[in-house]
Amino acid sequence: MKQTVVYKVNSEKPETDSILEAAAIIKSGGLVAFPTETVYGLGADALNANAVLALFAAKKRPLDNPPIIHVENLSNVYKLADEISPKAELLMKQFWPGPLTLVFKKYPTVPDVTTAGLETVAIRMPKNNVALALIKASRCPIAAPSANLSGKPSPTSAKHVFDDLNGRIDAILDGGPTQIGVESTVLDVSVDPPMLLRPGGAPLEALKEAVGEVKLHPFITSEAQLEVGKARSPGMLHKHYAPKAQVILVEGIVPAVMGKVKEITSACWLEDKRVGVLATDETSWAYEADVVKSMGSRRNLDAIAANLFRLLREFDEENVDVIIAESIPTEGLGLAIMNRLRKASGYTIIKVTQS
Ligand code: AMP
Ligand code: MG
Repeated sequence: MKQTVVYKVNSEKPETDSILEAAAIIKSGGLVAFPTETVYGLGADALNANAVLALFAAKKRPLDNPPIIHVENLSNVYKLADEISPKAELLMKQFWPGPLTLVFKKYPTVPDVTTAGLETVAIRMPKNNVALALIKASRCPIAAPSANLSGKPSPTSAKHVFDDLNGRIDAILDGGPTQIGVESTVLDVSVDPPMLLRPGGAPLEALKEAVGEVKLHPFITSEAQLEVGKARSPGMLHKHYAPKAQVILVEGIVPAVMGKVKEITSACWLEDKRVGVLATDETSWAYEADVVKSMGSRRNLDAIAANLFRLLREFDEENVDVIIAESIPTEGLGLAIMNRLRKASGYTIIKVTQS
């Protein structure tokens, strides 16, 4: 077992000593978790195949699901990616640093293990001073998937990282809770029109405003698990965001959803199950369950995104057997939130139409 060192850092102006120590770990092939504006990432030198293999092992992540490569300046992108289109240039200029990952054709300099043998590479520039300082001091692009055990909800605080990976990684840079709370948007710009592979922190509406047409991969709107052949991004296939409890997602208009949540709660109680309800500020008062938590106001999707993964983990600490979750509208960040909730439920979705 490794000794995992935690460095508390100032999120705006990270202390140089801690950054240099963390960068030395990256340079010697080690693993460091660090905050980004979306969720915590687990970093390794993206050009060191052994370090990236260790990264997969620490997370227990399947080798066919490649990490995103994080950079701190644009010139790095030109060393990793080929055929960068004018649309991609525009997106980088407008959205970076920020929660948008772009998928490009890759250069042979990127080890196959880093891209899981794909011909493409996923790259982004995070908007977080700790992350940027670490990449700069490491003098290499950093491969960083979310810093959770594979399949668990992504970590939005250093505590979540510690709970999952203590003893499995070298260090954690603790820069406080992350702001956005859901992962980056993944957009494939190796095709035209660009294709959305994962909704995330950069809303689809903003991407369309920047580059016009954006195709949605069928998986984004899918309400069931896709067949293997149809996945364009390997991560689409894997179990994700799942707490220990079974998640049941109830979709529809609010009064009908509320009625259904109450009905399912009663049915679960008859089976002696401990029930958690994941509600919103507007509705949480109406529920009686073993644990009721609010994601935030339906009018504040930023807050819902920021709270979501933490609440899923908290339900596990409360040992509920079932989590009944309300749906929210799919505009803006709502598309990413609903995508995570659908995956967390393993597509156990109940649709209601009338109250
Ligand atoms: P995570 O690092 O946990 O945020 O997951 C990274 C996501 O990016 C996963 O869904 C991957 O499948 C996706 N990804 C990484 N590289 C590629 C690529 N070359 N093409 C398509 N998707 C990718
Ligand atoms: Mg992940």
